Amino acid sequence: MTTSSLLEEAIAISKQFDVSKDQLVAISDEFIRLADGGLKTDDMPMTMIPSYVTGVPNGTEKGTFLAVDLGGTNFRVCSIHLNGDGTFDLLQTKSVIPKNLMVGTAKELFSFLAQKVDEFIKTHLEEKFNEEAGHSANEHIYKLGFTFSFPVNQTAINSGTLIRWTKGFDVVDAVGKDVCKLLQDELDLLKLPVHVAALVNDTVGTLMSRSYSTPGESATLLGVILGTGTNGAYVESLAAVDKLDKSIASLAGKSVMVINTEWGSFDNDMKVLPTTSWDNAVDLETPNPGFQMFEKRVSGMFLGEILRRILLELHEKGLLFSSSSTPLSTAWSLDTSILSRVEADSTPDLVAVKSIIETDLGLPTTLVERQAVKLIVEGIGKRSALLAGAVIGGVLVQIKACESNPVVDIGVDGSVFEFYPGYEELMRLALKEVIGENEKKIRIGIAKDGSGVGAALCALVA
Ligand code: ADP
Repeated sequence: MTTSSLLEEAIAISKQFDVSKDQLVAISDEFIRLADGGLKTDDMPMTMIPSYVTGVPNGTEKGTFLAVDLGGTNFRVCSIHLNGDGTFDLLQTKSVIPKNLMVGTAKELFSFLAQKVDEFIKTHLEEKFNEEAGHSANEHIYKLGFTFSFPVNQTAINSGTLIRWTKGFDVVDAVGKDVCKLLQDELDLLKLPVHVAALVNDTVGTLMSRSYSTPGESATLLGVILGTGTNGAYVESLAAVDKLDKSIASLAGKSVMVINTEWGSFDNDMKVLPTTSWDNAVDLETPNPGFQMFEKRVSGMFLGEILRRILLELHEKGLLFSSSSTPLSTAWSLDTSILSRVEADSTPDLVAVKSIIETDLGLPTTLVERQAVKLIVEGIGKRSALLAGAVIGGVLVQIKACESNPVVDIGVDGSVFEFYPGYEELMRLALKEVIGENEKKIRIGIAKDGSGVGAALCALVA
């Protein structure tokens, strides 16, 4: 194979990740159709879950709360003090979730989570609390917001049954159970002074925290996660949520509700989403083939593996890398941060790419090989951002956000958005295709520590 044909091959592969303007509009239209269906009935793939959160904060909220976050890769425990002026103080610890617990029993997983809360209270709160208040921490019951970023059937602000796992988790006996109760039971066994007050999806938390931290400005209407997984939550008019029984007492006098879209499973039927042979291969490697099809093209859990599959195929065809390596041939061995680091290298010799492939794949490269890798990376990353932009546009059209607001604020959390070079600009390209010049009204900002503060805010309103 000649030098130029490797590059030609890489260009052809990258092209397979193109999304046309027409496709972006079709994606947004299909999103609106499925969202509308999900607001009417529960048996739609995009579940449009009512959060029972009926307003967004304005920055004046106060108090001290605990929050835990079971995301994808990590478990976070934090205490949050809301100062009432849009600012907060946060203490946080983070532990990696052992892989065996992600596929073990509910008891093992939730007892691990409770132990981490115990450690946090012992290390960070007891002493501080004793000093400040002059009494034992055990006299105080902490309200805890539980950020649980998997699809649940929420029935009240502090209870919800797990519908299915995503992001590589498969704790079979937890499905169908109330996850707040699973956590509360384990906390009670340890005799901890903690009440699980709110079940919070991370996307809802992101929306809440962004709204708290931008007080006095335009309301935040959408919270977005672009990390291990992807999801969006937005402020919907209560009247539009047909499937909800609006006669329940907690909804009296309320006009809006935050809806967790679960857009990770947008278009599982693959009517409008683009696909490649590598997407199909990655899908078959997951515990849930055919589900979370949008997420599998957009989020951090999958982009590294899509890249690895392509590189391996080129290597097996004899087009790329003179030797093989364990990371190259091992599923899920490439972290999505590799794509960000490759994309960031604009040196003529791609020196950073050289060292990334040496370090992470254990392989020497020629310049042409590095150029080929970069072209492929750009295709995968660009498609992720365009798809994210198209569904964000769909939400904005659904709630007619730009018609009544001079500025529409969107809070985003997650390493893919935060660290992938040029991700926001690419998202905006897709937004422009969907909402035209109104794209200029959209303000997008990071909701830093979103899930912790958001969970505290939900525990507060609970
Ligand atoms: P989580 O979603 O688990 O709460 P993050 O927002 O940090 O946590 O997302 C983790 C995901 O982001 C992982 O899939 C990881 O591969 C990916 N990731 C981490 N760093 C980067 C980076 N620099 N660029 C792109 N993706 C990244």
